[in-house]
Amino acid sequence: MPKTFMPAMKTGEELKKHQLRGLQWTVKHASNGCSTYRQKMDAAGVQPVDIQSLDDLKRLPFTTAMDLQEGYPFPLLSVPFDKVVRIHASSGTTGKRKVLCYTQKDIDDWTHFFARCYEMARLTAEDRVQIAVGYGVWTAGISFQMGCEAFGAMAVPAGPGNLDMQCEFLMDFQSTVMCCTASMGLLMAEEVNRRGIRNKISMKKMIFGSERSSDAMRDRIRELLGVEHMFDIPGMTELYGPGTGLDCIYHTGIHYWADYYILEILDPDTLEPVPEGETGEMVVTTLQKEGVPLIRYRTRDLTRLLPGPCPCGSILPRHDRILGRSDDMIIFRAVNIYPGQVDHVLSGIEGIGSEYQIILDRKKDGKDYMTLKVERGQGIDKGLDPELSQKIGAEIKKQILVSVGLELVDYGTLPRSERKSKRVFDNRG
Ligand code: ZN
Repeated sequence: MPKTFMPAMKTGEELKKHQLRGLQWTVKHASNGCSTYRQKMDAAGVQPVDIQSLDDLKRLPFTTAMDLQEGYPFPLLSVPFDKVVRIHASSGTTGKRKVLCYTQKDIDDWTHFFARCYEMARLTAEDRVQIAVGYGVWTAGISFQMGCEAFGAMAVPAGPGNLDMQCEFLMDFQSTVMCCTASMGLLMAEEVNRRGIRNKISMKKMIFGSERSSDAMRDRIRELLGVEHMFDIPGMTELYGPGTGLDCIYHTGIHYWADYYILEILDPDTLEPVPEGETGEMVVTTLQKEGVPLIRYRTRDLTRLLPGPCPCGSILPRHDRILGRSDDMIIFRAVNIYPGQVDHVLSGIEGIGSEYQIILDRKKDGKDYMTLKVERGQGIDKGLDPELSQKIGAEIKKQILVSVGLELVDYGTLPRSERKSKRVFDNRG
């Protein structure tokens, strides 16, 4: 029997029992180890002994980004300092940064479930994984690497950027898998195409982290590189970091590691659960995190749970790609819009590229106007602009219920970045 990193539980019932044990442990651990958590629980009138079923989760108080920021530099630490072996942090100005402490067990757990990502993506020990993400305090390239090594594949710790070097590694080391942001994936695909080296490389799979990848972007990368699979790897520093789930080869949504954390999807306004399948804010509770456990942490990320079984047969439940952040929501003429919705509409239209910008202006008439700047597809004639604009405008109107102005620009003229591309420009002041 080959080594597996999948959960030992075989049924949903076993998974629930495991979650209850983990929840009870976490609440007790946090209450004993961290005065902030203890005070929050006291204020909410709930004690560790009150947690008798998974349903009791909703009696627990929420934790927010502010709780993490207020305790700077080592917020919500629930173990003595001599147990801490590493920190990571999310970027932000001093005092706004969120710093997270890890124990050795936290690092071991993270490595284990990161190895599961590679197993979920059906890698083998023969695979060579080019890790083109940042290493350091801010971005945990090291977790990609430790998971890869635990899994038994070969890690190529390339780091981000430097397309010259990336291309060289792809050719010389014959990397079969590349881990990067989707924006960098697109840059790589265009670079490989420009250099005409596609038949000299062996890349079969790409794993995209830390940014939503639009369907159009994926289509373009697939077209240029002919990769077999592209996976989305979610992750946030508060919840270990990257690697807390992955879509399987059926790409029916992201399987998340429900044996390591409980995911609630709540209405960001009422904080009540949304009906299954509807979009809401991800709220996470860890089950065995020692250094900084999370209890009902409001992530601000929006997604929905995907009901029903996956063809792969995994008992691990699925959520959709991240649709955006509740903070990123654009309010335009009283309609709530998430950039992900625009992505979605554009990816369904032929003849345009994968890059776009949303520009919001307030004009002299006091009204708000939205302009979409969209790239024409490669080789698409300017003469088609009126037709394309009309088509895009009509689809946006139909699906998002707003009117937009269109500006089509040449393929390759909107800025690409190796990190997250900025897409929303709000000039409304
Ligand atoms: Zn699956």
